[in-house]
Amino acid sequence: MKTNSYAVQNANTPLAPFNIQRRAPGAHDVEIKIEFCGVCHTDVHIARNEWHGTTYPCVPGHEIVGRVVRVGAQVKKFKEGDLAGVGCLVDSCRTCANCKDDLEQFCEASPTFTYNAPDKHSGGMTYGGYSERVVVDEAFVLHIMKNLNLAAAAPLLCAGITTYSPLRHYKVGKGQKVGVVGLGGLGHMGVKLAKAFGAHVVVFTTSPNKVKDALRLGADEVVNSKIEAEMKKHLNSFHFILDTVAAQHDINAYLLLLKRDGTLTQVGVPAEPLAVNVGSLIFGRRNFSGSLIGGIKETQEMLDFCGQHNITSDIELIPIQKINEAYERLVKSDVKYRFVIDMATLPAAV
Ligand code: NAP
Ligand code: ZN
Ligand code: ZN
Repeated sequence: MKTNSYAVQNANTPLAPFNIQRRAPGAHDVEIKIEFCGVCHTDVHIARNEWHGTTYPCVPGHEIVGRVVRVGAQVKKFKEGDLAGVGCLVDSCRTCANCKDDLEQFCEASPTFTYNAPDKHSGGMTYGGYSERVVVDEAFVLHIMKNLNLAAAAPLLCAGITTYSPLRHYKVGKGQKVGVVGLGGLGHMGVKLAKAFGAHVVVFTTSPNKVKDALRLGADEVVNSKIEAEMKKHLNSFHFILDTVAAQHDINAYLLLLKRDGTLTQVGVPAEPLAVNVGSLIFGRRNFSGSLIGGIKETQEMLDFCGQHNITSDIELIPIQKINEAYERLVKSDVKYRFVIDMATLPAAV
């Protein structure tokens, strides 16, 4: 099926309209007309080949929401007209130990990411959500509760699960002091979720103009991370810190803020390695860890939790024609707090 999309043709050109082919739905597939797609900083990293693994042309987008327009003969979970979401994963081996533990993001045979991954169906690469429609195996399609604003729910598919999963894994909750570093797409979801789990939440930001918003989003305290004296007030005090920063920064300054046995989980993926001073870990038996999105089962759990607690993203809805401007603003930390593309602005393929 000829499908209009926005693609990058190499690391230096802007996103522009591009026709791709989508397969007709097979027996287990769901065809979704995409209504909204969130803009993750990963889209920028990959479009610009900052992680050195991009195959062009590349159609980014892994915060996909829309409506089911067609289902294959064997599909059980979805019917035409249902709301549906697709996050960062569209397939995995389903047989390895991690897949069996519902952690498909760590599939030992390599998960099939929603874009820029080898596609067993087409023989080419997967194409993401900056697109009219997508066809995905129902096992990787999520349900979205009707009460949520659909555009504002789109970022849950990546920013939501990427923050939910480590907060749950490290059992963040009442009586704990939790830090969120960087108030962007991931960070602002981290604040909302950590708050919903009952933690005392402290935001670290480099943008003084985000302080008011951080408090409105639920933070109990906000620290300007550029002011050393403000940072020092929090030495040895955190149970858990979630670092969402997409660029080079001093990780040791945050490790020192952990209590004994506290954990800092890195979810932001700067293009260059971060320099960890092992002394910050050794003194205080502190932990430094990473986390990758979440499995499909946990993503559904997160979406249901957000549906029940009416948690969505704070978004700036943009027409697809403004996508290159949005990328520029993301790089400058000028995001409040997730760009979401209104796919109705993408003309149909001709
Ligand atoms: P984003 O919306 O651009 O937010 C990142 C925030 O980090 C910025 O808004 C800014 O917040 C802060 N920041 C940026 N540059 C900084 C610098 N030089 N020093 C200190 N702080 C800085 O990005 P996002 O979409 O949330 O994604 C964040 C990162 O997570 C990206 O690297 C992305 O690829 C990665 N990611 C990882 C996963 C995973 O599974 N691990 C999933 C999705 C995304 P302030 O203005 O508040 O300082
Ligand atoms: Zn993402
Ligand atoms: Zn697997």
